[in-house]
Amino acid sequence: MSDVNPATTSDSGAPVESDEHSLTVGAGGPILLQDSYLIEQMAQFNRERIPERQPHAKGSGAFGRFEVTGDVSAYTKAAVFQPGESTELVARFSTVAGERGSPDTWRDPRGFAVKFYTREGNYDMVGNNTPVFFVKDPMKFQHFIRSQKRRADNNLRDHDMQWDFWTLSPESAHQVTWLMGDRGIPRTWRHMNGYSSHTYLWINAAGERHWVKYHFKTDQGVEYFTQHEADQMAAADTDYHTRDLFEHVRDGEFPSWTLYVQLMPYEDAAGYRFNPFDLTKVWPHADYPLVEVGRMTLDRNPTDNHAQIEQAAFQPNNLVPGIGPSPDRMLLARLFSYADAHRHRVGANYQQLPVNAPAVPVHTYSKDGPMAYRLTSDPVYAPNSKGGAAADTDRYGTPPSWYADGEITRAAYVDHAQDDDWGQAGTMVREVLDDGARDRLVDNVVGHLLNGVTEPVLQRAFAYWKNVDPDVGGRIERDVRAKAGEKDPKAAEQANPARTSMQHKA
Ligand code: NDP
Repeated sequence: MSDVNPATTSDSGAPVESDEHSLTVGAGGPILLQDSYLIEQMAQFNRERIPERQPHAKGSGAFGRFEVTGDVSAYTKAAVFQPGESTELVARFSTVAGERGSPDTWRDPRGFAVKFYTREGNYDMVGNNTPVFFVKDPMKFQHFIRSQKRRADNNLRDHDMQWDFWTLSPESAHQVTWLMGDRGIPRTWRHMNGYSSHTYLWINAAGERHWVKYHFKTDQGVEYFTQHEADQMAAADTDYHTRDLFEHVRDGEFPSWTLYVQLMPYEDAAGYRFNPFDLTKVWPHADYPLVEVGRMTLDRNPTDNHAQIEQAAFQPNNLVPGIGPSPDRMLLARLFSYADAHRHRVGANYQQLPVNAPAVPVHTYSKDGPMAYRLTSDPVYAPNSKGGAAADTDRYGTPPSWYADGEITRAAYVDHAQDDDWGQAGTMVREVLDDGARDRLVDNVVGHLLNGVTEPVLQRAFAYWKNVDPDVGGRIERDVRAKAGEKDPKAAEQANPARTSMQHKA
């Protein structure tokens, strides 16, 4: 053993006799049950994996800091966003549908999660690299994710089931248009934006309220992979995005993002042309321009990916004074479901792990449970007259709130003037994408539809795209029919007799 290497110990710290040889009866004899070190190694190995996240299983991240560069103190009293503030953080990026070993470059939205260790407790912004989402009611979320994962019978992912769900859920059109466009495969995590997607509530020191959406714009510039490039990379380097982030942080090329917000006065919400809490809609920049807040820089890699990234538990209910939720139904459901997932995935005391523990003292009445690490002290109840913690209601007693009333019901959102499912997707296709980007969108959709999508889902997919944009929809239908015909003329004839007989005449 060299002078610099420490002596191996068991998990209880006692020196072990060998890293190489089991305890046996003679060199050729059986292994002994009393080889506690061997048993510890085998048993621990069997327990190394924790359940992977249901969506967002494949990901990685880094530590860094957030520095405030703007002045939004008129809109929020949150310490993390006050001028001059600098806050440590951990960020994690991920794909959504793939499992832990899946390729980083599959077409998919990317998770964009940030945990700020603020001086008022942890604040988590658990967003995506897109400003919208596929569904707007949490009742559909589980079904959506299942439709993107694997079939029951052959355990394969299946485009037919994906399009079946999407075309029966027209509110998905905006997000699907985004997904099938260039931004559906970011070149690296460094080259994508992050969005809160949800609307939150900001409250200033005077108690005034604004609705807010977050935009983390990449300082590296937005870059993407074409489908062909991504397919090649999926074969060449499954972990390309993971590697890229780790190597850039390691080499001192620290990626950064500038945080902007859109701010909507509280009173605007009811009369705004779009429902501002509908997760399938953006607020056009012309209506609510971006206001600069600060910069996030990632400058430190994890040294233990499991302890610091896999066990990192981001949860949108980690809010701090000055920031509250909004009536966005998807957000309200996530306030419950993320923490619940961590209790299951990591354990009831997951918030005591170093990566999840806040940078401030914790004075909670939560206690005990498996693997409790933080020491509990008396009194163990409140209210008490024994010197235990007491809520500071003078300072923090007003919850972030909004006015709500009505009969208890199961219904769609209240109508706003432009709440249709197709409008904003159409705007993106016609006004944001240039000709090249539109062509790639059409090609990506055509390639996707040709990969196992059957009637009548296919027919619905053509109608779906014609609703987004008649021209783009028409091109998608023509290309799919033509390419299906090249592959299997008989099937194309059956699927669309009128069109193929016209082709034959021509
Ligand atoms: P703007 O022209 O002000 O904004 C369009 C935005 O589209 C850009 O700022 C950019 O967002 C984003 N964008 C650019 N290229 C692409 C692309 N290939 N794929 C996806 N997004 C792209 O118009 P509006 O604010 O009125 O929005 C028009 C449409 O743009 C919306 O319907 C929506 O589809 C899309 N969009 C709007 C955003 C918003 O918050 N208002 C954000 C992103 C997209 P960024 O600067 O964030 O990169």
